[in-house]
Amino acid sequence: MYGSDSDGLQAARVQLVGYSARLLDDGLAVGSAGNMSVRAGDLVAITPSGISYAEMRPQDVCLVDMDGAEPREGNQETPSTETPMHLAIYAAAQAGAVVHTHSPEVVALSAAREELPAIHYAITGLGGPVRVAPYVRFGSDGLAAAAVEALAGRSAVILRNHGAVTYGRDLAQAYERALLLEWLARTYRLALSYGEPSILSAAELDEVTAESRRRRYGERRTRQP
Ligand SMILES: [Zn+2]
Repeated sequence: MYGSDSDGLQAARVQLVGYSARLLDDGLAVGSAGNMSVRAGDLVAITPSGISYAEMRPQDVCLVDMDGAEPREGNQETPSTETPMHLAIYAAAQAGAVVHTHSPEVVALSAAREELPAIHYAITGLGGPVRVAPYVRFGSDGLAAAAVEALAGRSAVILRNHGAVTYGRDLAQAYERALLLEWLARTYRLALSYGEPSILSAAELDEVTAESRRRRYGERRTRQP
């Protein structure tokens, strides 16, 4: 997490602009769709509303406090329309960054399924099968509440007829999770083209999670002098 001093805020702004360009390159967004934020101390740096990612500059990134109030000197642009959803996630989870996309595979799935099931064990990186939250209008407190509820125990949620949200300890992790979610949605669609795919059970997913933890512990141990 960045600090809320001017160096920390500038670093958060530059990082958000860098990842905004990646959203386009990676096919997770078109134009100005979707939005991202980074926690910086008591503040949140969030992408502005209505500016295409290709044109966004660090000074266009907006600041809000945890109640959504803008700093006294104001922002040059209007904070993202989904600011309430970002703030609700910071309030509910240990998040350092939030990524919201309108990525195509996830949007397609959101219109046709109740959840993204576990056809691959990599879904444990998102906490398990990813729920589809009920449709509520963009930018509303109702959407923020629906997203937070469906995020329970997960670091990703799919918003019906809308898109996806992921969070992580930092923007790099939140962004990797957005890519993973899109990949999982695509592989699920491909699996459906063969017929009814087999789904990993909760016990099989628990086993993967336990083994991943054990191996991470092993890595840490071997790095010690
Ligand atoms: Zn959206």
